[in-house]
Amino acid sequence: MRMVFLGPPGAGKGTQAVMFSEGMRFLHLSTGDILRANVKRGTEIGQKARSFMEQGLLVPDSIVIEMMLDKIKTSEAGKGFILDGFPRTVYQARRMDEELKGLDLTIELVVYFKTSIDIIIYRLTGRRICRDCGANYHIVNMSPKKEGICDKCGGELYQRKDDNEEAIKKRLEVFNGQTKELIDYYKKQGILEEVSGDLDAGKVYEAISGILNDRDKNRT
Ligand code: ADP
Ligand code: ADP
Ligand code: ZN
Repeated sequence: MRMVFLGPPGAGKGTQAVMFSEGMRFLHLSTGDILRANVKRGTEIGQKARSFMEQGLLVPDSIVIEMMLDKIKTSEAGKGFILDGFPRTVYQARRMDEELKGLDLTIELVVYFKTSIDIIIYRLTGRRICRDCGANYHIVNMSPKKEGICDKCGGELYQRKDDNEEAIKKRLEVFNGQTKELIDYYKKQGILEEVSGDLDAGKVYEAISGILNDRDKNRT
């Protein structure tokens, strides 16, 4: 299955994408993770993207589209993938659709994580990330066994620079202004399904699994 996880920041897209990619061996392509890795390595993309990211603004389409298409082309995309955080503008979606059509890898399902604003803010302000492996925690909802230390690799947990009040506000504006339109874009294609991002992670996982099972049944 080739999927897009769409939703506001903090909806739990990344958390679910990790759960599904581990359980079902989908590729997980997170635009934010790929960009942060570029910033860390100081690549040309990273240098261009950094200040946009810190302010909570979108990185220009010209950088992101090429980066993601390149990633899809050089990965084992044939076995199915989850795009997490991409596309975020209708322009990105159109460009991707054109390219994927040519590769016979069109998007089959878009999961929209509908999430309440107070939950989003609570999740983002408590989010912590492992500096070494990128694993994702929440100081209350999904706390590590040892405070400040990653369960998986022992790395140090940090708070993302853009998980502060000001950048969060900006990111929500960007979502409402530029990304939300994608709901209609994919509805028109007949591939959009909605889940509640407010539920706990196990329940969200069940809801998405249910959608995937239904699709499989309808296929056979
Ligand atoms: P997104 O990728 O949509 O920005 P994340 O997956 O990074 O969201 O989740 C945001 C924060 O909320 C993280 O700290 C994560 O641990 C926590 N979280 C994710 N899903 C849930 C959930 N269903 N219930 C409670 N907390 C969650
Ligand atoms: P979140 O988990 O809060 O949704 P991400 O990790 O997906 O955030 O993205 C972090 C930042 O990376 C965004 O605020 C933006 O600056 C940049 N970014 C991520 N995806 C895209 C995209 N598709 N287009 C442009 N910028 C992006
Ligand atoms: Zn780690």
